[in-house]
Amino acid sequence: MKALVFGGPGQRSWDTVDDPGIQDPTDVIVKVETTTICGTDLHILKGDVPAVTEGRILGHEAVGTVVETGAAVSSLKQGDRVLVPAITSCGRCGPCKAGMAAHCEAVGGIGWIFGHLIDGVQAEYARVPFAETSVHLVPEGVSDQQVLFLADILPTGYEIGVQNGGVVPGDTIAVVGAGPVGLAAMMTAAIAGAGRIIAVDTAESRLKHAQKSFGATHTVIGGENAEAEILEITGGAGVDVAMEAVGIPATFDLCTRIVRPGGRVANIGVHGAPTTLHLEDLWIKNITITTGLVSGSTVPTLLKLARDGRIEAEKLGTHHFALADIEEAYDVFGAAGEHDALKVVIQA
Ligand code: ZN
Ligand code: ZN
Repeated sequence: MKALVFGGPGQRSWDTVDDPGIQDPTDVIVKVETTTICGTDLHILKGDVPAVTEGRILGHEAVGTVVETGAAVSSLKQGDRVLVPAITSCGRCGPCKAGMAAHCEAVGGIGWIFGHLIDGVQAEYARVPFAETSVHLVPEGVSDQQVLFLADILPTGYEIGVQNGGVVPGDTIAVVGAGPVGLAAMMTAAIAGAGRIIAVDTAESRLKHAQKSFGATHTVIGGENAEAEILEITGGAGVDVAMEAVGIPATFDLCTRIVRPGGRVANIGVHGAPTTLHLEDLWIKNITITTGLVSGSTVPTLLKLARDGRIEAEKLGTHHFALADIEEAYDVFGAAGEHDALKVVIQA
């Protein structure tokens, strides 16, 4: 089969590799029909994720069809259309039983194994371990594109932004960073009843997307004046929940300055550098700060909302490619700003 193979920092290729086969009785083999590229894949290509070794097939988000099942698999069969989520859940370990598959202990102590610790799904076929406790059947009448982004960024925005942030109806929230995950946080915050949703980004094109399609009620250009503008929108009070969806010190710091006393800062961003936490200002503010990696526990809920037309995650897919042209998709996604791209949709 063909697959997108990591060849070490800066190197990727659409290569011919061996077809995957069943290794464990809880595996299934999925024919990948639709996949996408994550910001994390770009980090891997930069060499930021040393656990990913040369020869690894990348990708951790897919919709496809089951073509083979392991001996222990009874609730999935050939021909089932499934969403393969970023996080694998063995269903048996302590973290999985506690609903925190992000920290599943079955493979390497982390739920994110596709395109990381085992071969991923940017390929014609993929081996999916712990399939019964990990994949989701796609409801009838729902397209691949409607559910593709439920593999990773929608549940990330919902669980790590909205749920960790404790958003309740009527809240005023700010989402700092209007990239795909920030937009997913806005979309799911709207479902959770957020009243005012303030999108903050340095790129005007992203703010336009935020307001047009993802539920933002206000937009603020990131930078020097952002704090003052957000405080003005909230009448000086600050926001109930500030979500960080960039992953740099300046944006995290902004979140801690715009949150109201008693409010919550939900960090979603992937940070590569230390950040100063200004406890000399914050100790008296009664705020809560949360962090996390998605577990995917909300995917069933999001699938229902997609089926019923309550979320339109497909709006994140701005650019479309054939699977054989995945290298071109990487070029576009890697220069997303130039192309006004949010997410790419790659279809077999
Ligand atoms: Zn991802
Ligand atoms: Zn587990």
